[in-house]
Amino acid sequence: MAIEQFANRFVCDLVAYEPGKPIEETARELGLNADEIVKLASNENPLGPSPLAQRAMAEASREMHIYPDGGGVRLRTALAERHGLALENVVLGNGSNEIIELLCHCFLNKDAALIAAEHAFVVYKLMATLFGADYVEVPDPGFVHDLDAMAAAVTDKTRLVFVANPNNPTGTLVGQEEIDRFLNKLPEHVIAVFDEAYFEFLEKAPDTVKYVKEGRNVVVMRTFSKAQGLAGLRIGYGLAPAHLAGILQKARQPFNTNEVAQRAALASIADSAHVEATVANNKEGRTLFEKTFAEMGLEFVPSHANFVLVKVGDGDRVFQEMLKQGVIVRAMRGYKLPEWVRISVGTPTENERCLTVLQDLLA
Ligand SMILES: *Cc1c(COP(=O)(O)O)cnc(C)c1O
Repeated sequence: MAIEQFANRFVCDLVAYEPGKPIEETARELGLNADEIVKLASNENPLGPSPLAQRAMAEASREMHIYPDGGGVRLRTALAERHGLALENVVLGNGSNEIIELLCHCFLNKDAALIAAEHAFVVYKLMATLFGADYVEVPDPGFVHDLDAMAAAVTDKTRLVFVANPNNPTGTLVGQEEIDRFLNKLPEHVIAVFDEAYFEFLEKAPDTVKYVKEGRNVVVMRTFSKAQGLAGLRIGYGLAPAHLAGILQKARQPFNTNEVAQRAALASIADSAHVEATVANNKEGRTLFEKTFAEMGLEFVPSHANFVLVKVGDGDRVFQEMLKQGVIVRAMRGYKLPEWVRISVGTPTENERCLTVLQDLLA
């Protein structure tokens, strides 16, 4: 008998997450050097990690025979201070993706449901499926989360409602007023999760941490993967009222975040200049992308994050053709957007190269 038939059905049926194509793999396939490849496919920080974080990592490497601080106390304390919260309100994750998983561990099962927007970050759907729960997708006209419709979709089964703000891959944002109205409609048995992976890039960010302070059923997720440039280390966190954070803490592995990541993240927090430079570079690059797409007559979604979703016709073909020129972007078929690609903002040189390749291709 095949072992597959004993595996959980909803696991076998799952379509695995497809990450941005790695630089090494692309270089190997094209017979190029890795430094000739431009990767604008995973919303990474083109300026790299903060020099302070790099030094912390090098220093930490000498002590790698010791288990990490499982409680992550120094980092959690720093994060709590930063947000005007207490240690008990901070949960560390192996990337903020792990916070999504912890939430699902704690609150989902075959009798529960998770609500998200139609073009929301795909990991919510993967996780809901993995836990055998219902995944409820709410239409997002103009690619913007419709929070009124999402609140209206809540039933007795609903446990989690995910709001990616700004959302990936659309880059769209919902404002304070909509969020306040949304939260006032949610019943007691539902947790609102605000995934704020791109928070640092916002000029005017809605305040969701205030709801954590009020003890509401709210989790705010942030990450060091994007503006902080530590995607490879896997470190993110959730902010939640103590009663809720305490549940999430029970579901994690004892050493879910490693010591190098904890120390680099801590050092990174202190380097606000690096984040400022990152945000400035991003603003300039994003403006250039949007201006150029408009000139090319391409439809795009105005973005609040470090990437732009742009309609190019045949997304898979554009991805493949750009790849041949050593530029990696992200095809969007997996998001049911086969005509679109998502392009992350790079350095000025990377952006120019990307746009030149795209213009030549579509000319
Ligand atoms: C990139 C991203 C994350 C962060 O993932 P990490 O696990 O922290 O690297 C979370 N949510 C969204 C919407 C993202 O785009």
